Order: sequence, then C-alpha cells, then structure tokens
Amino acid sequence: MAAKSSARRVARSTDALIDAGLARDDQRAALDAVALRFTVAVTPDMIDLIDPADPADPIARQFAPDPAELTLRPGESGDPIGDEAHSPVKGIVHRYPDRVLLKPLHTCPVYCRFCFRREMVGPGAKALSAAELNAALDYIGTHKEIWEVIVTGGDPFMLSTRRLSTIMAALGRIPHVAVIRFHTRVPVAEPARVTPDLVAALKSDKAVYVAIHCNHARELTPAARQACRRLGRAGIPLLGQSVLLKGVNDNPATLEALMRALVAARIKPYYLHHGDLARGTGHFRTTIEEGQALMRALRGRVSGLCQPSYVLDLPGGHGKVPVGPGYLNRAGDGGYTVEDYRGRRHAYPEKA
Ligand SMILES: *Cc1c(COP(=O)(O)O)cnc(C)c1O
Ligand code: SF4
Repeated sequence: MAAKSSARRVARSTDALIDAGLARDDQRAALDAVALRFTVAVTPDMIDLIDPADPADPIARQFAPDPAELTLRPGESGDPIGDEAHSPVKGIVHRYPDRVLLKPLHTCPVYCRFCFRREMVGPGAKALSAAELNAALDYIGTHKEIWEVIVTGGDPFMLSTRRLSTIMAALGRIPHVAVIRFHTRVPVAEPARVTPDLVAALKSDKAVYVAIHCNHARELTPAARQACRRLGRAGIPLLGQSVLLKGVNDNPATLEALMRALVAARIKPYYLHHGDLARGTGHFRTTIEEGQALMRALRGRVSGLCQPSYVLDLPGGHGKVPVGPGYLNRAGDGGYTVEDYRGRRHAYPEKA
C-alpha cells in the first residue's frame, strides 16, 4: 500500500508501474518491449482504483500493459476503422456526409490497452499546428453539409482551455454547424482536469454534447461523478461510450452495473462498441455473438434508459453498424414472430 499511495504521478515507465503494484519485476523485459510499441500512461486516479492483489482487476486490465499485446492476430491493423481513407485534410475525418471528426491532438490522460487508435496516439504524435488547425476549421467552414463536429483525438479535454476556447469560438462562427460533440476519457481518468475554466470554455450558442468513455462502474468514482455534475450543470447533455472488453465488462451483471451507474450519474449510454481489430488487442475481443447475448440479457434486466446500441465499426472506413440482437422474424403467414425479453415468441399479424 505504501508504494501505491506514493504513486501520485502518471505512471509511464515500467519502473513506475512496478512501484505502483501494476507489474512484476520478472515482466520487465516484456513490458519494456510493449512500451516501445504502444504508449503507456496510467493516471494516479486510475492507479488508486486498482487492487494490486487482484490479478484480474478490471481497471488494471484496461490500463496496465500486458505482454499479450505483442501477439498479433489475423485481420488486425494499424488503422482498424479506416480513418486514413476519409481524411481530406490533416485532423479531419469525413466519413458521413453530415458530420466530421476534428482531431486537434493525439495525447490522452491514460492510454487504454485496447484503443483503436493506439498506433496514432501518444506523446510522439504531434498536435495540429495553428496553421493546420486553421486549415481543418476552414474545411468545416467551406463544407455546408457539415451539421455536427465531433471533437476527439487523442482526448480533446487535454487541450489547454485557451486552445479549447479558440476552437469553440471558430466553430461558433460557422452557421451550418449546429452541434459540437466531444469524446473524452478525462472526466473518468483525471477528473481534476474538468475545472470550471474548462467547462466555461465549452460554452457556446450551439448544442454541445459530451460523450464520456467509461467501461466499468468502478470508474465512476465520487470525483468522476463530480466532474460530470460540473458539465451537466452547464447544460451539457452527457452520453456514455463503452467498449465491450473481455475480462473487464463481458458479463451481464458487470454490464448492468455499468449502465445503471452511468444513468444514475446522468450519463445516457450511447454506444457499446464491439472491440476493434487494433493490433495486439485480441485478448480483449469477445465474439459478436457473445455481445449480442449480453445485449439480450440487458434488455430484460434494466431500464430502457440503460440500453446503449451495440455497434461494430467496419474496417476500411465503412462506418458504424448496429449489430445488436434481432427480435423479429418473418412468419409463414406473412406476419412476424417477435421475441419478448424473456425469449418467448409471439405472433404479430402485420401483412407484407
Ligand atoms: C464514430 C464516427 C462518427 C460518429 O458516429 P455517430 O454514429 O454519429 O456517433 C463520425 N465520423 C467518424 C469518422 C466516426 O468514426
Ligand atoms: S482515451 Fe481514447 S484515444 Fe486515448 S487511448 Fe483511450 S481509447 Fe484511445
């Protein structure tokens, strides 16, 4: 415990991980090899949540590097959802007509071991220069079909409040942009960064949404919930974004607890992502069938508010597709057979 409470800094090196009780000395060489390939950082907030005595701790599993990351599986890629194919200018991904991603930086508070952009994020990857950011904002300004801007990265809440304000002001001046959405792990991973100044920097005449990445109920600590309250009090609707991860949340009770904790913190579960085919993440992936069975279990167990859509992001840049279970089958008489939440079948007499 002494080592753990002294670890008040972000753990980035194998030594720091060992000090924090997140790695063993005999893993040193393997973990150094992992860190050369994929960035490592664990915030003190997340270190404090981890029980070093539990080898299956779901928080440690998300952030502590694992030698299994060096095992590559067929189909895995450095750009698993095809961002590059849809990037017209640096920092913009324009895959769907009405919305773009704006990626002003590539740093994160923590580096999730299952991240789909794990080979694009980290301190080695440069943030957009002022000129590049202007070019990205110009692209948005000259494409009138862009209704929504999704600010991501990296993690946009790692920007200084000055840079955030600059981006918000520029987007605020573009008449066709109606919605600005942030995707962030900061409220959970480093809640102290959600300062009143940061919240003030998000103020806009446009609709501003914040999607919070959270995969386990334990991540919603009192400090995290406080950070969410600060955002909520500023009139910002909060969405929850989770990744289905083997050994972290892939059972009905854990998933139920996560969804309930999100909704109780006024965060509406939005997406449950099927694990992307990022390199070295095979030990985290469930099958789609397992994901569907979990979604079925949720449907019966919890409020409609607690139901995310289960989505697969197609490799090659073809976008997200809901892959949740189906409840509807055509019946021989032209109507349907519909399954209820208990799995019982009912005839529904619609004619084709
Ligand atoms: C995920 C993603 C979006 C947002 O999709 P929604 O379904 O609107 O949440 C937009 N653009 C790209 C390139 C994406 O990867
Ligand atoms: S915070 Fe997001 S972008 Fe950063 S490592 Fe985690 S999943 Fe990847």
